[in-house]
Amino acid sequence: MSRPLRATIHLSALRHNLDVARRHAAHSRVLAVIKANGYGHGMLRAARAFAAADGFAVLAVQDAITLREAGFTQEILLLEGFFAPDELPLLAQHRIATVVHARWQLDALLRFPPANDIALWLKANSGMNRLGFQPAEFSAILASLQRSGAKLTLMTHFARADESGGVTGQLSRFNALSRGAELPRSMANSAALLCCPETHADWVRPGIMLYGASPLPQHSAAELGLQPAMTLNSEIIALRNIQAGDEVGYGGAFKAPCDMRVGVVACGYADGYPRHAQNGTPILVSGRRSRIVGRISMDMLTADLSHIPEAHVGSPVTLWGQGLPVEEVAAAAGTLSYELLCAVAQRVPMLERA
Ligand SMILES: *Cc1c(COP(=O)(O)O)cnc(C)c1O
Repeated sequence: MSRPLRATIHLSALRHNLDVARRHAAHSRVLAVIKANGYGHGMLRAARAFAAADGFAVLAVQDAITLREAGFTQEILLLEGFFAPDELPLLAQHRIATVVHARWQLDALLRFPPANDIALWLKANSGMNRLGFQPAEFSAILASLQRSGAKLTLMTHFARADESGGVTGQLSRFNALSRGAELPRSMANSAALLCCPETHADWVRPGIMLYGASPLPQHSAAELGLQPAMTLNSEIIALRNIQAGDEVGYGGAFKAPCDMRVGVVACGYADGYPRHAQNGTPILVSGRRSRIVGRISMDMLTADLSHIPEAHVGSPVTLWGQGLPVEEVAAAAGTLSYELLCAVAQRVPMLERA
């Protein structure tokens, strides 16, 4: 018997979530964001499940080439642009589109004669102050690229799309910058796609929602019609009865208030489970809701089984996924579903289910 921890990827959930994105933004093309190894689900696996998308967004040129070599013919975009001028021949050769957010990238494109073969997504900084050209310089850059015959899409990214009214300022700045250009435009991440139709424009760029997690703090994934695409499962590998006053795990971070039964689960922070998950973080044992007690170890964690008398060594455990939204675990660990999904460790075997 091998260690029982595994991540199961539900391919039908990935396809379903893409359909949800399409239904919300029926008049936009969908650029499925599969950066960070498809948010931890496997980049190629995600791309195959999202084969009906109009394009894919990744970070590394090597990932874009992997997609081309796997036969994908859609738009493929480097979401942060190229990182060095010597990547430009690869972009032209493999028909890879790139974000352009900095002067040095414009200079590199000018020095690369077939630059007009490369589709450019010109990025405006509309208020997030991370990547993108300032509004004051954007129009002149846009005009000169249009004169040179570049293939252009205009884009920006929201800092607060998950808050009510959070897109207003950036949306009006971006609308002002792109007005009259008659070029395709792209703004919306998952949160904006779901809550702000006025941001849909020509291309939406959903990420987290495609993996079945909610981008909106006030709505669960289920309320949004999304299905979790990853379930992290393990088993109970040891059980013990402890007495009131006994401590559990490193540092005695949990002290039993009464006599209890505690189970040890084969999953720890070296698997990507968040070490900062608090006492009380939800977990499913034999399909019933329980809570973590004590500190998360490298390879194990401990759960309260006092109210699950049928639990035994070998009982199934769900860390997150079907039956337990990853957002709930993330909240109890002071982080986001994004971080948990991306952080599942290489050593965790990944299975696919149709
Ligand atoms: C990651 C990313 C997205 C997707 O964001 P989600 O919140 O996961 O939907 C969209 N656009 C850009 C520029 C990104 O970096």
